[in-house]
Amino acid sequence: MELIEQELTRGIYRGIGEFHVFGQDAAATQVGRIVRLSVEQGLWLHAHVDVQALHALHAHDGRARVIWAHTGFGTPVAEVAELLERYPALMGELSYRSGIVEGDRLTAEWRELLTRHADRFLIGSDTWVNERWESYGSLMAGYRAWLAQLPKPAAEQIAFRNAERIFPRR
Ligand SMILES: [Zn+2]
Repeated sequence: MELIEQELTRGIYRGIGEFHVFGQDAAATQVGRIVRLSVEQGLWLHAHVDVQALHALHAHDGRARVIWAHTGFGTPVAEVAELLERYPALMGELSYRSGIVEGDRLTAEWRELLTRHADRFLIGSDTWVNERWESYGSLMAGYRAWLAQLPKPAAEQIAFRNAERIFPRR
């Protein structure tokens, strides 16, 4: 907490994360302090969490603005849709997210979800190790391949317009 507060005095941050927390650990008092700090300062929480922890983050403060890292990896699409409806500020980040394509085709359920909630998804590179930077070009090519299978307005929202909206230039 001290480190976060100290870093925030630099005035350069738009969010806190990516951080990992799972299950009931996210209900801890310390996590609640971080959630409330993010709300007070208008910061995004970039959270690598399971569904239980996602609920716990919102239970600390329903105004929390969460970018869900990897959109739960493998959380069923119907459950992702319910969570987006339950938490209006929730954004889904799509790196490492499985099930979006089969072969090189966008699946029907993901096409429907990404089209219906095109304002709620972000692509990410998750360059957590140097190897991810080395494969950055192919990661982005992978996104472009399925983005091109969506209606263009939806593809543009997911590719960059949502990011521009939630992180406006300043
Ligand atoms: Zn992660």
